[in-house]
Amino acid sequence: MSHKIAILPGDGIGIEIVAEAVKVLEYLVANGIDLEMVEAPIGGAGYDAAGKPLPDETLELVKASDAILLGAVGGPQYESLPRELRPERGLLGLRSELGLFANLRPAILYPQLADASSLKAEVVSGLDIMIVRELTGGIYFGEPRGIRELENGEREGFNTLVYSEHEVDRICRVAFDIAMKRNKRLCSVDKANVLEVSELWREMAEKVAQDYPEVELSHMYVDNAAMQLVKWPKQFDVMVTKNMFGDILSDAAAMLTGSIGMLPSASLDANSKGMYEPIHGSAPDIAGKGVANPLATILSLAMMLRYSLDRADLAEEIDAAVGKVLDKGLRTPDIMAAGCKEVGTVEMGEAVLAELQ
Ligand code: NAD
Repeated sequence: MSHKIAILPGDGIGIEIVAEAVKVLEYLVANGIDLEMVEAPIGGAGYDAAGKPLPDETLELVKASDAILLGAVGGPQYESLPRELRPERGLLGLRSELGLFANLRPAILYPQLADASSLKAEVVSGLDIMIVRELTGGIYFGEPRGIRELENGEREGFNTLVYSEHEVDRICRVAFDIAMKRNKRLCSVDKANVLEVSELWREMAEKVAQDYPEVELSHMYVDNAAMQLVKWPKQFDVMVTKNMFGDILSDAAAMLTGSIGMLPSASLDANSKGMYEPIHGSAPDIAGKGVANPLATILSLAMMLRYSLDRADLAEEIDAAVGKVLDKGLRTPDIMAAGCKEVGTVEMGEAVLAELQ
């Protein structure tokens, strides 16, 4: 079956790193995987090309695609634009237009890079956690919201943390499905001691668990989860949590690895259509210099193969090729260490390709 992949490089280093992932995709096509790639602008590039961060043609393309590979958006030249024209709006638009409610954020620390973490190597070496964050609900979207004036003239800001049963059910199912493919342990993170919405969340997680008898489900309060993540992160396999808790915990988990240029992510809809992107931004400070680390983007492509294209075999090959390149001591400046060889974006991409070949 042929797959259509939308390629959205975006801004800054997005252009350089996506080019390396596209080389890997072209290699896969040359070796028999049936897919078509179509490129389109997003973010600042969308604004430059069509006057808005999510141009109509780009939206049409992503709707007709099976998966999306995105670089990054944003840059100082766009910061003075009105809010609705800023590059980040392009991403938010994509998430809501496509109903991408499940955000998968792995925190993996290749043993070769254990020294990059600010934590002791024995605490983090070989770390492999998957955080599943609900992405389209909760307090970031709940209504009513706003800033209002009270009778005494003082202003008050307010937001609403709301989850319906079906929203909790579907995100938990995504997390249980992933746990089934991993070590079959799922930790649901909530604040059920204080929040009614968390009580409902916990109840729903237990209910879904009945359909996954092989998965061991545990619950943890979010404050404890934050502590445990820095104390002994290897206790976790898969974690599932609401939008805001996931936002915070997944960034903390990412930092355990110490290498932002290494971490991929996926955002999925109900049919496993997904958008795949590195967790980092467009890094204007190094854009155009040819030094950005392309591995997070190449690993995002591996996630695409695993979760949207049902080719876990190829995903494993890519993961292994990245491991071998690190074994050989090749490092972009962001992960450089004593005794290793410093390489640029293109050299790193080509080294991965050479391992695949
Ligand atoms: P950033 O992630 O772009 O950069 C943070 C630091 O990490 C910088 O020093 C950068 O050089 C470094 N870095 C990031 N990716 C790297 C890579 N692949 N290789 C080597 N070093 C890398 O975050 P920022 O500086 O806060 O934001 C820059 C721009 O990116 C802003 O416009 C922001 O809005 C945008 N942004 C976009 C996304 C996205 O597209 N999903 C995410 C975060 C930030």
